[in-house]
Amino acid sequence: MRYAGVAIDSSARALDRMFTYLVPEGMEISAGDMVRVPFGNREAEGFVLETFDETDIPGEKLKPISAKIGRQSAILPELMELMEFMKRRYLCTAADALRCMIPPQMRLSRVKEKTQALAGLSMEPERALSLCARAPKQQQLIRALSGGSVLVKDLSREIPGAEAAIRALREKGIVEIGSDRVLRQPRISDFGHGDKDPVLTTLQQSAVDELTGALDTGGSFLLYGVTGSGKTEVYIKLIREVLRRGRGAIILVPEIALTPQTVSWFHARFGDLSAVIHSRLSAGERYDEWERIRLGQARVVIGARSAVFAPVERPGAIIVDEEHEGAYISEKHPRYDAREIARERCRLSGGVMVLGSATPSIASFMRTQPRVRPENRLTLIELGQRALGRPMPECEIVDMREELAKGNKGIFSAKLTNALKTCLEDGKQAMLLINRRGHSTFVSCRACGYVVKCDACDVSMTFHLNENALRCHYCGASRPVPEVCPKCGSHFIKYFGAGTQKVEEEVKRLFPQARVMRMDMDTTQGKDAHAEILEAFRRGEANVLVGTQMIAKGLDFPNVTLVGAVAADTTLNLPDYRSAERTFQLLTQAAGRAGRADSPGRVIIQTYTPDAYALQCASKQDYTAFYRQEAEYRRRSLYPPFTMIVRIVYASGDERASAQAALDAQNEFSRRLKEACLQRQVLSVHAGEAPIKRIKGLSRHQLLVKIYSTGNANGVIEIMTALEQQPPEGVSAELEIDPANLF
Ligand code: ADP
Ligand code: ZN
Ligand code: ZN
Repeated sequence: MRYAGVAIDSSARALDRMFTYLVPEGMEISAGDMVRVPFGNREAEGFVLETFDETDIPGEKLKPISAKIGRQSAILPELMELMEFMKRRYLCTAADALRCMIPPQMRLSRVKEKTQALAGLSMEPERALSLCARAPKQQQLIRALSGGSVLVKDLSREIPGAEAAIRALREKGIVEIGSDRVLRQPRISDFGHGDKDPVLTTLQQSAVDELTGALDTGGSFLLYGVTGSGKTEVYIKLIREVLRRGRGAIILVPEIALTPQTVSWFHARFGDLSAVIHSRLSAGERYDEWERIRLGQARVVIGARSAVFAPVERPGAIIVDEEHEGAYISEKHPRYDAREIARERCRLSGGVMVLGSATPSIASFMRTQPRVRPENRLTLIELGQRALGRPMPECEIVDMREELAKGNKGIFSAKLTNALKTCLEDGKQAMLLINRRGHSTFVSCRACGYVVKCDACDVSMTFHLNENALRCHYCGASRPVPEVCPKCGSHFIKYFGAGTQKVEEEVKRLFPQARVMRMDMDTTQGKDAHAEILEAFRRGEANVLVGTQMIAKGLDFPNVTLVGAVAADTTLNLPDYRSAERTFQLLTQAAGRAGRADSPGRVIIQTYTPDAYALQCASKQDYTAFYRQEAEYRRRSLYPPFTMIVRIVYASGDERASAQAALDAQNEFSRRLKEACLQRQVLSVHAGEAPIKRIKGLSRHQLLVKIYSTGNANGVIEIMTALEQQPPEGVSAELEIDPANLF
C-alpha cells in the first residue's frame, strides 16, 4: 500500500500537522501535488507533503484521497524545501507557505482552460483529395491540413469561405474538429527597447563578469548603480548566460503597473521565453502564464513580489530590482520578505541573487559591510557612472521660507517657475513630483520650517482632524495644535499637503499653452491606466507630467530635462523612523529621471528644511554620505535594523474589549518573557490605542514591543505569536513584524 502525508489547506493552527491518507490504486501521487480529501464530514483540499509505504495507523482508520487536482504536481520539490524555511522564518503553517506558491485560481474558483477549435484530417491527404475531386475549395483546405492540424480561426482568416468547406468535409467524415488549449498571454506595452543587446560599457561588463563568475557556486550580491547607470542591461546579460546554461531566471519589480517599461524591455529581448505574473492579470492569464513557466516554455519570469515563488526549476538567477521598495514585504500573513525568499531559493538551487538599486535600503547596504555573518552577507558591486558617460543631473535646493519672506505665497518658487518656462520653450518635458503619502499630515511653520515633533520619540507628530490634536504614532503622546510657531512666533503654521490636482491647476494657470497630464490614485483606476499615461507621455502628448511617487520610479524618458519636487518635506516628516530614508530614495530616484539622454538634466527640490541631510545628500546624489549619517541615527536611536518593532493589533466592535485585550496581552507577555528569561532582549513594551483608533467601525488597540534584533529575537516573537493565537472572544488579533506603516 501507498500512503500520503497531507497538509490541509487551512490557516487554522490546530490543523497544522500531517494527516495520513491512502493513495488509491492507480493514482499517481507525489510530494507537491494538490489533492481533495475527505476531512471530518466534508471534503477539503490539501497539499501532499510526502509519500511512504508503511504506517502505524491501523488500516480501518485511513481514508483514501478523493482526487488529484491539476495535471502536473503543483509544487516543485525545491519549493517544498523552501516551505520548511518559511515555517521557521515566518512562524507559519505548511499550508500558509504552500499557498503562496500557487496561483489562487488553482485552489478556489478553478479557472476554465481556454480552448480553440482545431481542424484535422481523419485520413491520409491523398485519399481525402480523391474523395472530393470536384470541389476546389475543399481540396485547398485539405492541402492546408496535410501538414497537421490547424486552428479553425486561422483557416477562416487565410481561406475565404473556409467555414462552409469545413462543414462539408466534416459531414463526409474527412475532417474532424477537436480543441486545442490556448495559453492566454497578457498585453505588454512597447516602449521601443529593440530586440538587440547593446555593447556593454566597461563598468557594466565587469559587473556581469563578477555575477556570472558566481553562477557555478551561487552567491548574493548588491548591485548599487547610480540612476541611469544601465542596471537593466546588466541583468539581461546575466540572464543570457543563465539561459545558455539551460536554467531559468526570475526578475522582481516592485509593482508591475508602475514599471511597464521594465516589463516591455525584458519582453523585447526575450520574447515568448518570458512570462509576466502579477495581480492585475485576469485569473485566466495568470493561471496560463503560471502553466507556461511550470511546463518550462517560459524561462524568464518577470513579476511583482509573489513571482519569487514562480515554478522555475533550479533558477540560475533571481534579481530584485529597486530592492529598497517596501513592496517586497508581504502585507498578509505569512509576512514574507521577497528578498529573503530569493536568497533562500538561490541558496537551495545554487543560483545568483542580485539586489539592485541606486538607493539601496540601509539594511541591505549594511550587509555589505565587514563583520556581517556569512549567511547575511552581500557582495557589493558598484556602477558609479551613467551608461555612455552621460552626466548626472544638476540639482538645486530652494528654500521656500525665503520665498515666503519675499512675498511669494504660491506653490512654485521663482526658480522652478523659470525652469519650467525654459523647459517648455525648448520643447522638452518636465516631471513634477508631489510626494504625499496617504492622508497623513504633520504641522510645520512656513516661516522657519519648524516641525512639531514628539519629545520622547524624535519623530514628527501627526495631525488628527477629528480630535483637533497632534499625536505621536510611536508612543501615543498627544498635544494641542499650536496657534503660533513655538520657535519663531509666526502665524503661518499649518498642516501640509498640496495635492496633485492643485499643482496641475497651477501649471495650467501659469502656462496656458502647456499640455499637462496627471498621474495619481484618481487617474490610475483602470487596468492599464498607468501604462497608458506613461506611453502617452513618452509619445510627447504632454509636456508636463504631474504625479505622486508613482512617477519617480524606474522610468526612462529621454526627453525629460526637468524634475521638480514641489514639497520635498512631505515624506521627510512622516511619523516613521524611515522617513529620512524614504525621502532620500524618492528624491534621488526622481532626480534620476532627468537628463537620461542627450540633453543635460536639471532638478529643483523645494523645501522648508533645506538643511535636512536626506535632502542635502539627495541633491548631491551622494548615497554613501547619506548611508553613513542614517546608519548612525539608527544605531543611536535604536531603530531597525539594530532593533525590531513588533506589535499585535487588537480590533473589536467593543472599544473596552480591544483595550482590555491589549492590556491583558501586555501582562501575559511580561509574565512569559520573565519565564523565558528574555527580558534583556526587549527594549520597551507598551499597550495602548493604535495610531488609527478606529477602522471600519472597529476600535483598535495595540501591544507595541521593541526588541534587539541580535540575540534571541525569535524567542520573543514566538511569545507574541502564541499571544496572537489566543485573542479573547469577540476580538481579532494580528501580529506585525517591522510593519511597513504603523497605522
Ligand atoms: P538604471 O536602471 O541603472 O537607472 P537603465 O537600465 O534604465 O538605468 O539604463 C539607462 C539608459 O541607458 C537606458 O536608456 C538604457 O537603454 C541605456 N543604456 C544602458 N546601457 C547601455 C549600453 N551599454 N549601451 C547603450 N545604452 C545603454
Ligand atoms: Zn516658525
Ligand atoms: Zn512619541
